[in-house]
Amino acid sequence: MLNIAKRIIELDANLINKIAAGEVIERPASIVKELIENSLDAGAKSILIEVNEGGKSFIKVTDDGHGIAKDQLIVAVKRHSTSKIDKVEDLFDIRTLGFRGEALASIGSVSYMKIVSRMEDEDVGTVIEVEGGDVRNPKDAAANKGTSIEVHNLFFNVPARKKHLKSMYAEFKHIMNVIVRYALINSDIHFKLIHNDQLVLNVPSTADALANVAAVYGNNIAKKMLAIDFNFFDIDVKGFVGKPELTRADKNYQSIYVNGRYIRNSMITRAVYDGYGTLLFHGRHPVFILDMKINPAKIDVNVHPTKSEIRIEKEDNVYSTIRNAVMAVFKDERLMPDVERIKAKAVETRLSMSEDQDYRRQALLADSVGVGISGKEGFEEDELNKTKDGKLNIRLVGKIHNTYIIAEDKEGMILIDQHAAHERVMYEKFMKQYHDKDIKLQKLIEPIMLELSPTDSLVVKNNLDVFLQLGIEMEEFGKDTFIVRSLPAVLSKQQDKRIIMDMIDELNSGELSKFSKIKEEQIAIASCRAAVKAHDVLEMPQVYRILQDLFKCENPNTCPHGRPVMIRFPLYEIEKKFSRK
Ligand code: ADP
Ligand code: MG
Repeated sequence: MLNIAKRIIELDANLINKIAAGEVIERPASIVKELIENSLDAGAKSILIEVNEGGKSFIKVTDDGHGIAKDQLIVAVKRHSTSKIDKVEDLFDIRTLGFRGEALASIGSVSYMKIVSRMEDEDVGTVIEVEGGDVRNPKDAAANKGTSIEVHNLFFNVPARKKHLKSMYAEFKHIMNVIVRYALINSDIHFKLIHNDQLVLNVPSTADALANVAAVYGNNIAKKMLAIDFNFFDIDVKGFVGKPELTRADKNYQSIYVNGRYIRNSMITRAVYDGYGTLLFHGRHPVFILDMKINPAKIDVNVHPTKSEIRIEKEDNVYSTIRNAVMAVFKDERLMPDVERIKAKAVETRLSMSEDQDYRRQALLADSVGVGISGKEGFEEDELNKTKDGKLNIRLVGKIHNTYIIAEDKEGMILIDQHAAHERVMYEKFMKQYHDKDIKLQKLIEPIMLELSPTDSLVVKNNLDVFLQLGIEMEEFGKDTFIVRSLPAVLSKQQDKRIIMDMIDELNSGELSKFSKIKEEQIAIASCRAAVKAHDVLEMPQVYRILQDLFKCENPNTCPHGRPVMIRFPLYEIEKKFSRK
């Protein structure tokens, strides 16, 4: 044995707190979360959150809750000290957000923390300071009713953790997310967030839950939300789900709460998607706020140090309750007489199809004129351009079902998907412009106005250069409002707000280092939107033009998403099928 067994000792309190902090306090946002939860548990009606540098240098949460009694402050900052439970049975009947009694002790062990508090019936408040786990004796202090907790120099004594903190913007985004989650379902509480002395979020208290959602997410989202009010298996579901047209590229606008606690739960998420059923466009994510109340005895919240996951009894019941709750919201829509609906749908599709097609056709023709290829030439000259190495000879034969192009070369027949082919062409064209830093911009005659939620606004404000590099020229225009002045010419016109919203989601969920990857994906998506679709009726010169461009591409065989562009049918295989060989 190499190791001589060390003596087993009981760790001292300070060390224990630091170990706990490792689980509970991951980043500034974790502190904001714990402090807000404490304020909510204290019955606050107003919570002010002030942070500097994404919370890395300073966090302060001030509430008007019941406060902490003078002689209790010194207890509150100790580990495993809580006023929220006092016997084992309580663990299975938790009605507060906190109960583990470790937040204050953990925070105090990895920062300089100062708490000032006064209860309603006290004449004078009390202040206590903790630095790196050392508790200083409490003193009298002037204070309003309630509690304010300041945290400076987070992780000053845990360099490894400090090193892992992200940029100010990234850390602030996490903080913003925490506050947004709690502001969304606590409409009776005034939340205010100030970052580097600037007011970022102001959500006054209101009796109107939808007005509250509007204050957090902005009007554009709120006006597309439908209220849920449902009860099943003793589970009470309130909140909102977005109309099917209000979808996003990721799940950032989805919140699930059980008894006021924000949680993540894939089963519940699935139930919501299943409730939307076919109303939801494949690959898109709905916006929803699910405020569920379940008998505390039926859930276990003590399964995760940050309490963001819980265990629920009878998951099947929860699943069907949520699915039914969402289905009920859209019931009216579903009950519409089928024939009527189909008719309405058909007209709608036709309208949007023809507009789109028209645009794409124009774009293609404009392109052709640019290089001087006339339709006539396309028909008569049957040998397409050779590739750069001059080897490929392809003849355009025709097209079928307005979807597939048929061509032949020496080896046999080639079937080409017109949409995938055009997508590849657009993608490479745009990528080239992008890499050459020569994106052709198209000034919009009518600039697009974007009214964003504070969260999205934050993302845009911090990524204006990324958008510009992609040819999207935007500028700030008042609080949370932006003007889009130009778009990449390759995409133009039909590239509406939606693509920008999708980019915001990508930027929001991605880390800084992944930006270039994100850009490529965005370009792929954009080229997909701009490309001709299956069933678009193309004139032969247009088909010809696509093929010509396609065979100049570096990677003509797959579309930017990796699906095949063409399928080859070698002559010998055709001959085999005809039993000639
Ligand atoms: P927990 O919330 O799990 O009980 P904490 O370490 O977060 O543990 O807080 C310890 C105790 O301090 C709480 O139980 C509560 O009594 C008191 N406390 C903390 N923050 C506040 C606050 N903002 N207002 C009133 N009491 C508070
Ligand atoms: Mg707590």
